[in-house]
Amino acid sequence: MSRARVLLLNAALGPLDYRVPYGMAVEPGSIVLAPLGPRQLAGVVWEPERMPSDAEVGDNRLRNLVSVYDVPPLAAPLRRLIEWTANYYLAPPAAVLRMALASASALDGARSVTEYRLTGHVPDRLTPQRAQALERIGERQGLVRELATIADVSDGVIRGLVKIGAIEPVEVTIDDPYPIPDPAFGAPDLSPDQTAAADRLREAVKAEAFAPILLDGVTGSGKTEVYFEAVAEAIRAGRQTLVLLPEIALTEPFLKRFAARFGHVPVAWHSDLRQSQRRRAWRAIASGEALVTVGARSALFLPYRNLGLIVVDEAHETSFKQEDGVMYHARDVAVMRGQFEQVPVILASATPAIETRQMVAQGRYEELKLAARHGGATMPEITPIDLLADPPPRGRWLAPTLVAALTETLERKEQALLFLNRRGYAPLTLCRTCGHRFQCPNCTAWMVEHRLVRRLQCHHCGHLMPPPRACPECNEEDSLVACGPGVERIADEVAALFPDAATAIVTSDTLWSPAKAAEFVGKMEAREIDIVIGTQLVTKGYHFPNLTLVGVIDSDLGLSGGDLRAAERSFQQIAQVAGRAGRGEKPGHVFVQTRETKAPVIEALVSGDAASFYAAETESRRHAGAPPFGRYAGIIVSSEQLDEAVTTARAIGRSAPRVEGMEVYGPAPAPLAMLRGRHRQRLLVHARRALDVQDVIRKWLGGLEWPRGVRVAVDVDPYSF
Ligand code: ADP
Ligand code: ZN
Repeated sequence: MSRARVLLLNAALGPLDYRVPYGMAVEPGSIVLAPLGPRQLAGVVWEPERMPSDAEVGDNRLRNLVSVYDVPPLAAPLRRLIEWTANYYLAPPAAVLRMALASASALDGARSVTEYRLTGHVPDRLTPQRAQALERIGERQGLVRELATIADVSDGVIRGLVKIGAIEPVEVTIDDPYPIPDPAFGAPDLSPDQTAAADRLREAVKAEAFAPILLDGVTGSGKTEVYFEAVAEAIRAGRQTLVLLPEIALTEPFLKRFAARFGHVPVAWHSDLRQSQRRRAWRAIASGEALVTVGARSALFLPYRNLGLIVVDEAHETSFKQEDGVMYHARDVAVMRGQFEQVPVILASATPAIETRQMVAQGRYEELKLAARHGGATMPEITPIDLLADPPPRGRWLAPTLVAALTETLERKEQALLFLNRRGYAPLTLCRTCGHRFQCPNCTAWMVEHRLVRRLQCHHCGHLMPPPRACPECNEEDSLVACGPGVERIADEVAALFPDAATAIVTSDTLWSPAKAAEFVGKMEAREIDIVIGTQLVTKGYHFPNLTLVGVIDSDLGLSGGDLRAAERSFQQIAQVAGRAGRGEKPGHVFVQTRETKAPVIEALVSGDAASFYAAETESRRHAGAPPFGRYAGIIVSSEQLDEAVTTARAIGRSAPRVEGMEVYGPAPAPLAMLRGRHRQRLLVHARRALDVQDVIRKWLGGLEWPRGVRVAVDVDPYSF
């Protein structure tokens, strides 16, 4: 009799054993369908010795596997990666497996599906809901449910529109092959510096071995062009490349750029895909047919059949850290995947993380440098504006110097970018009479006013409320004031100052899909936009040659709070947004508004001396035993009942093992003390680098029990403090 150990796609379950029925062939990695109670669930066959089961069942009580999916088995390197990730981040292996199988939706057998799109026929009279649906769907296509979600209406509204001929069905097959990128198409002439770096990368791809490489080049130095040469090499060898980007908003411009270089777009993988696209992409990735995949974090665990190269673009970005579910860092897992797959991993960044620089300093990562911008473009000049000496008029946020620079830029018919990392109109609404502040009922966060959509919104849980007319506390009318600026408020100020200028707000509210991002890029390139006002979303990767002025509205914002990485992150953010200026023939100028012109971050940016800033930051981390010299892990205890969260967290704290080289702090309220209606307490574990802190935590928590309503999650190498 043959039995198989199966890791099922249910994070609450450990692996279970099954009987392999006569005539069925399985091996480790086979993707199978297995019975569980009255249901059936997908899972993957695993080596029993690598996946201990605590539910050993005798042969006579085993249930039969139902079937084997007609897709390639998960290869050993990916299985090792799943085990490693589960171990390192203290997550259930099944939760990691889910990411590899894309929640199994890709396994579904159907080869064709019916999707829907607008016909272009718009009936004369439409209910507001139907009108809203037609407007929001626009060019998009998808299942009824997908369109309903996009349009924020019920399925019935979509079906109604099908009935009256405004929406029509289309058959989509998921087996259409992807075109093969052409490595010779649109190859650029590289500068000598670029050629040297590209040669080394090509060599690394040819070597078919693990090689972590930091591609460290100033903004606009041609990092993308250079790593494209490595991608070309992998394509020639018929091997797959994965390019990870920090945001889905960046995929669309990337696709365009890729097509200009390789003649075809690569396969895109992100959360905005329709289900049929997801299925098609997953299958092509698993079969090895998809030669280049570009995607956000979640593309990291896909079952590439024949991986030859991994690129992490903008590798310093904090959005590579996942804060929900499996709390992993995609940059670090990418390096591990490179190790298991024996392929090179390129980390591209103009502002690498201190952790990454330290790996270079220790000789564990190789470094390739591009010191100058491509094609004679110069680095922008950076000038601080002292908000105390040169303040904006009352109730305004742009200092006179910045306004003057904007005026000149517009006169020269060039484009400008104003950066403020705050969505919405105002971060806080306050009652002038009684001091009441609008707070989210579910989270420790203010309700942020969004004037464009006329709502107050919580940026953590999404809770919405209509804009209040009177204060709920004292009932006073006309007493509510918006405090502080968000991008919408800056846009108002710009509109008042420059009524003829065309402006655009760029945040995750306005660029919520790759299509919207593409539209924005198109308008910038066609110079239909004069002034962009944006959050961190605009700091990344964009290349607009006519953009010559950048204004940082509040550079002190990032420095507040006791975050370990605050200074580093602030430096990276401003250097990145500054890097959008003067990328073409015209020189760029950056103005940084600040109340602290002497802050090390500002001085480093102005002098261009990043090296001493990094050296000082690195030293202070070393001194504090902070990453990368020591390690942290957060143990987050949450419950809907505050006292339950506190009591449990204290009990866990009291049972902390005494281990040489490890301290446990807290519990204290977590960085977000309340999130989505759950109170969160955190214990912070600080340990020496060499200590196997996961093992300690696993044994520590493994021996404990807590009430049903309590959740305990571990955040290894946390990003929020
Ligand atoms: P980075 O990623 O380092 O910021 P990019 O790769 O975006 O830099 O390059 C900046 C701009 O210069 C892009 O428009 C790119 O196409 C162009 N560029 C860089 N190197 C070359 C080259 N060798 N030939 C032609 N254009 C180049
Ligand atoms: Zn909230």
